[in-house]
Amino acid sequence: MEIGGIQERVRREEYGDCSFCGGEVKEDRVELDYRYKGKLFIFQNVPAGVCQQCGEKNLTAKVAKENN
Ligand SMILES: [Zn+2]
Repeated sequence: MEIGGIQERVRREEYGDCSFCGGEVKEDRVELDYRYKGKLFIFQNVPAGVCQQCGEKNLTAKVAKENN
């Protein structure tokens, strides 16, 4: 998996209001851990929308889909 490819597809305008509390979402770099077939992958500096109000991480639909 290539994080660089994910970054290229993330655009600021894809972040709407927080789906959790409706607060303002700003882009930040976050750390994601992801389990796949019994292995743990940790991705650092992944661009994601972070709610300034509750701290919820809002990945874009495209990125979230890749993590399924
Ligand atoms: Zn929120």
